[in-house]
Amino acid sequence: MKIAALRETAAGERRVAVTPETAKKFIALGAEVAVEAGAGASASIADADFAAAGATLGDAAATVAGADIVLGVQGPSPAALAGAAPGAWVVAGLNPFGTGEGGGRERVDAYAAAGLEALAMEFMPRITRAQSMDILSSQSNLAGYKAVLDAAAEYGRAFPMMMTAAGTVSAARVFVMGVGVAGLQAIATARRLGAQVSATDVRSATREQILSLGAKPVFVEKVAGIEGEGAGGYAGEMSPEYQRAQAELVSSHIARQDVVITTALIPGRPAPRLISDAQIATMRPGSVIVDLAVESGGNVEGAIAGEIVERHGVKIVGHRNVPSRLAADASALFARNLFNFLSAFWDKEAGRPVLDEEIGDAVRLTRAGQVVHPRLVS
Ligand code: NAD
Repeated sequence: MKIAALRETAAGERRVAVTPETAKKFIALGAEVAVEAGAGASASIADADFAAAGATLGDAAATVAGADIVLGVQGPSPAALAGAAPGAWVVAGLNPFGTGEGGGRERVDAYAAAGLEALAMEFMPRITRAQSMDILSSQSNLAGYKAVLDAAAEYGRAFPMMMTAAGTVSAARVFVMGVGVAGLQAIATARRLGAQVSATDVRSATREQILSLGAKPVFVEKVAGIEGEGAGGYAGEMSPEYQRAQAELVSSHIARQDVVITTALIPGRPAPRLISDAQIATMRPGSVIVDLAVESGGNVEGAIAGEIVERHGVKIVGHRNVPSRLAADASALFARNLFNFLSAFWDKEAGRPVLDEEIGDAVRLTRAGQVVHPRLVS
């Protein structure tokens, strides 16, 4: 059983899907691990560290040659997998609905045509036993933290209240919109920096979570939101009535905020629009908005992926691939997610992982030359 990891090739991707720690653990399971030379460089992992863990280093072709499983952060190009074993697994974030590099339907079709079994890790079901395998959670957590630091770096004022001999600096007011994994970490981080934090979500279950982190919940009243956790823990699209009430609430709240972090996503749909240009115009010049949903269509009008733009004196930060901006920690968690996934299904006799139906069918996009995932065949 040979497990391989290539250097990521998508623009701006600094993470790597295997670390010396996980390489060692795969070897302990009886696998051979091959890593492309330089694969860890942008995540501060030296080739020598992989070698010390027992991995073999080589060029891309040698790394993939005969591999049974190829790990990736994003999907490796099908051409790069030409030498892999017949029916090899590709285990990565495959972004089959995306249009950018490292994703898209064409790439899924190419994996199928090459006889590869493509497993999309972002389709991991949200069930308790899969929590440790969930790349969306591990990466969102870091993104929520980094979003606050990015906001602080762009903000020309301090976050904490400071009482100095020269006078008092008031605390920044931070508003977090969307309290999933990223939003919760954004609240916690902004609180640690001393900001006054408020937060909102459509899922009423988040109210308690916001309070428990010492922030103020700001909720649409008198129009039903989503009770409990919603399907699979995710939000759905809200009614026009709810959207109107939410827009009014945001309008009255946002004018008094210095920093807004938006993280709202709806699986399989464009991100909901939460902040309009007119609302931005009511904010104090020098305020900062970070749109973590910018690559999914954006929560904020005027946000541009990969850019920091200024509207009405307010900076709108739209960094792409925020987890990659913390490449070392993001790689460590991502690599552990992949190890936790493969090791949970490791069949000692077969010397390889054998997936069960619940998780296998949720993540498998292609098998035996066919695209098989229900969301891709209709
Ligand atoms: P997400 O990234 O899909 O969305 C971010 C947040 O935006 C969500 O809280 C969502 O409710 C919110 N949102 C959507 N539309 C909105 C709108 N119009 N206005 C305001 N907010 C809006 O969410 P996520 O981080 O993946 O987390 C969703 C839930 O799933 C959380 O409760 C989380 O704890 C849970 N979860 C469970 C597991 C597991 O059990 N394995 C794993 C990860 C997350």
